[in-house]
Amino acid sequence: MKIQTDVNLKPYNSFGISQSAAHFAEVENLEDLKQALSYGEEHFLSVHILGQGSNTLFIQDYPGLLIHMACLGIERFEDSGIVKAACGENWHQFVEYCLKNNLHGIENLALIPGTIGAAPIQNIGAYGVELEQLVLGVEVFNRETATVEVLSREQCEFSYRDSIFKSGAKNKYVVLSLALQLNASPVVHTDYAALKQQLTGVEEPGPRDVFEAVCSIRQTKLPDPSALGNAGSFFKNPLISQDKFSSLSSEYPDIPCFDSGEEGLLKVPAAWFIEKAGWKGRRKGDAGVHEQHALVLVNYGEASGEDILLLAQDISNSVLQSFGIALQPEVNFV
Ligand SMILES: Cc1cc2nc3c(=O)[nH]c(=O)nc-3n(C[C@H](O)[C@H](O)[C@H](O)COP(=O)(O)OP(=O)(O)OC[C@H]3O[C@@H](n4cnc5c(N)ncnc54)[C@H](O)[C@@H]3O)c2cc1C
Repeated sequence: MKIQTDVNLKPYNSFGISQSAAHFAEVENLEDLKQALSYGEEHFLSVHILGQGSNTLFIQDYPGLLIHMACLGIERFEDSGIVKAACGENWHQFVEYCLKNNLHGIENLALIPGTIGAAPIQNIGAYGVELEQLVLGVEVFNRETATVEVLSREQCEFSYRDSIFKSGAKNKYVVLSLALQLNASPVVHTDYAALKQQLTGVEEPGPRDVFEAVCSIRQTKLPDPSALGNAGSFFKNPLISQDKFSSLSSEYPDIPCFDSGEEGLLKVPAAWFIEKAGWKGRRKGDAGVHEQHALVLVNYGEASGEDILLLAQDISNSVLQSFGIALQPEVNFV
């Protein structure tokens, strides 16, 4: 494993931001990871772990060691529905693999960009399914003890776009692989409104129908990062109390809300606040808010990470002033 220096990160983030990493390592196995971490320690470098950079905004040149996780391999455990994938595998290709191999329950998460290793970090979710529903265990390298451990779903403390990896144990673990408990017999989740609508007319939809419906919705609704730099939803959907929701809905009767799964809290689309505050389609230089999707910030070409960050801060401030709601970023700033 070779440590490179002064590496341009443009190919390593879906915003297409041109910052650089002072030190860069491509890690293909556990030995590589250990060597890279030792190099970081010996040179007193801060370390950042990177998948495909589709939930990452580089706001400056990274002065430390950036470790790009590229470990590959998928293992299926006979007919149990259990499947294990290494951290560097592409998430969508893994979903396709599962579909082809009659492993079901994961189709709603098709076309989410990124790697297996990043999926548990923010507990990825879409169209009515969250990763936590499928997780059997997460194999990690514990940077404090230099040992490999397997964390159970409970130990990961998953919640909406959150986990122990982002909170209590931030920077403690490097995810090596993910084991999922899928279904060997067909199972589908079609309750999500947009998905239900897309499947209108399909009698008894099967896993492939769900997979294709999800891909089709995503391809028509979301900008393709290879054509227009973005990181999907920039902010999390705020979870608000019933009282706060009642006071907002008396002023804005059209405010939408969903069950948050957390007691006493309702989920309101962050896009609604952003659009209502007048940001949809606005642009500041090459940093902009997507014309169809108020939640997606985009790089029209030469925006810097700082340009995107400043735009995000302006949006947050304006939503706070107008509605008393503090938006939390979903994207990681490096
Ligand atoms: C167009 C678009 C649509 C999207 N739609 C969705 C969606 O529907 N639902 C959703 O949940 N997300 C969505 N996202 C966000 C993104 O796809 C996910 O967060 C994805 O899991 C990021 O994977 P990545 O490998 O690119 O992560 P990166 O951006 O590389 O990293 C994200 C975080 O994970 C950490 N990390 C990465 N790999 C490891 C590892 N092996 N060990 C420890 N930490 C690690 C990083 O340090 C960072 O904190 C979307 C993004 C885009 C661009």
